[in-house]
Amino acid sequence: MKILLSNNDLNEALYNVSNLGFVPTMGSLHEGHISLIKKSIKECKKTIVSIFINPTQFNNKKDFKNYPRNIKKDLLILKKLRINFVYLPSVKDVYHFKRKSPIKLKKKDKILCAKFRKGHFEGVIDVIDRLTKMIKPQKIYFGEKDFQQLYLIKKYNPKKLNVKIISCPTIRNLNKLALSSRNNLLTKNQLIKAEKISKKIFLFKKKISQNRNINTLVYKLKKELTNLFNIKFDYLELRNKSNLQVSNKIKNSKLFVAYYINKVRLIDNF
Ligand code: AMP
Repeated sequence: MKILLSNNDLNEALYNVSNLGFVPTMGSLHEGHISLIKKSIKECKKTIVSIFINPTQFNNKKDFKNYPRNIKKDLLILKKLRINFVYLPSVKDVYHFKRKSPIKLKKKDKILCAKFRKGHFEGVIDVIDRLTKMIKPQKIYFGEKDFQQLYLIKKYNPKKLNVKIISCPTIRNLNKLALSSRNNLLTKNQLIKAEKISKKIFLFKKKISQNRNINTLVYKLKKELTNLFNIKFDYLELRNKSNLQVSNKIKNSKLFVAYYINKVRLIDNF
């Protein structure tokens, strides 16, 4: 496994490489990331993983500062997986040029996390655009755990990136909690709370059948969880998974959730 620390390293290493799979991450790797990496290894001749905590996608400085960092452990995991390259760029490497026109979301896309984290997806699209143009992979791997991110990048891709986007299912633990680097920020009791919340939403979505009052039931669930676990929701909403518009139909929909346990913001979709 080659460790690439700069754009020079990157250009040298990738010279003449074809059939390359790319897995962008912010590190603190877990089985969710690993599932993407394994898929790339299976499908592509060579695999590159980037670890870069992108400052421009954090709408809150404290959140950026507190984001978990475990680079030594990450490198051991990647080495064991026998990937070809890991890219650890600096902020300067990624932001070495200024964009002529800034990335903007359409008004109808300013929903869910885009509504609550101003500038977040603009930062995500910007960094994915930059990394993809530098790395020039054939395939790029994203998790459905961040469904809105995947949706927006798919929308951005055809005109701008020219890469095949591969979406990968969400990996959960036995209690239905989606694996996330942010879970590292939870105490043991908070983690148990997050598991109970996930399990309740998971079972709600699994058991519910189509009926006229579906959004009232979602609202009631949100209220129940708020009171039971003393948490604050940004949203719990049923939306169509093809266009992310609010839906009152189970078919082709997902329940999207973002909530806080103390200061830690968790997102998921079921
Ligand atoms: P992150 O390091 O959080 O930016 O995530 C890097 C990639 O891993 C993104 O495409 C995420 O959607 C994906 N990912 C994170 N958690 C999971 C999970 N539990 N299951 C599947 N993919 C995940």
